Amino acid sequence: MTKLPVPSVGRVVHFVDIYEDGETTEADHYPAMVTWVETEHGGDDPWVVGLSVFYPDTSVPVRYFDSVSHDDQCSNQTWHWPERTRETG
Ligand SMILES: [Zn+2]
Repeated sequence: MTKLPVPSVGRVVHFVDIYEDGETTEADHYPAMVTWVETEHGGDDPWVVGLSVFYPDTSVPVRYFDSVSHDDQCSNQTWHWPERTRETG
């Protein structure tokens, strides 16, 4: 397993928001900035962070989520490091 860096304030990660309407399930990955790290405030788990999540939405463009857990399997309302994109050239 690849070792991943622990998150720190100011890093940009993905936040997973799973939308279900009965027929379809859609998992959206939104950019989020790490704005709180629990271990810097007495917590034990370096993978639990507070995130300011950015939405393509003019009415609520940023929302804060407290105590978000890391999950590479992209379950709902968790964070992960952004996926690598294809290289060109
Ligand atoms: Zn992602």
